[in-house]
Amino acid sequence: MTSIIQIEEDILKTIKELEDIKIEITNLNQELKLIQELISTVNQNDIISKDKMLEIGIDPTQIYSPTILKLKLRGIQNTKKTRLNELQIGHNKNKQLINHLTKCPICQGKGTTTKTSYDRNDNRITPTTKTETCPTCQGKGQLNINSQILELLKKIK
Ligand SMILES: [Zn+2]
Repeated sequence: MTSIIQIEEDILKTIKELEDIKIEITNLNQELKLIQELISTVNQNDIISKDKMLEIGIDPTQIYSPTILKLKLRGIQNTKKTRLNELQIGHNKNKQLINHLTKCPICQGKGTTTKTSYDRNDNRITPTTKTETCPTCQGKGQLNINSQILELLKKIK
């Protein structure tokens, strides 16, 4: 079985990845908001400042017709939306991974285990199934991991 230290390392690595993804998602959402604003600006036949063009990756030294500018903006918008989707999938995967890693391997996160005993009466054997609190996690359903990691996990939930 994998040692708890190894599992804790994997959890920390996954938390770090989740944090990086969150930062990128926040940045992308801001950029997408800006692009939407710029598309409205072009639709209203207003001028986009050179700073804003540079900020979203359009060469400000060129002159564009409103149609071309809108096409460029939509292209950038689509690329960023695709990236955002990928990040959200990655975010969900990492969260699932954390749930999987922190789950008690004995009771599979249920917090209880079942024990079947066999009673002999006359010639018959009767099985009795008893549900007990999981002795490994004491009913918590989670691995007994380092409290600092638990604090980090609370933050991402
Ligand atoms: Zn358990």
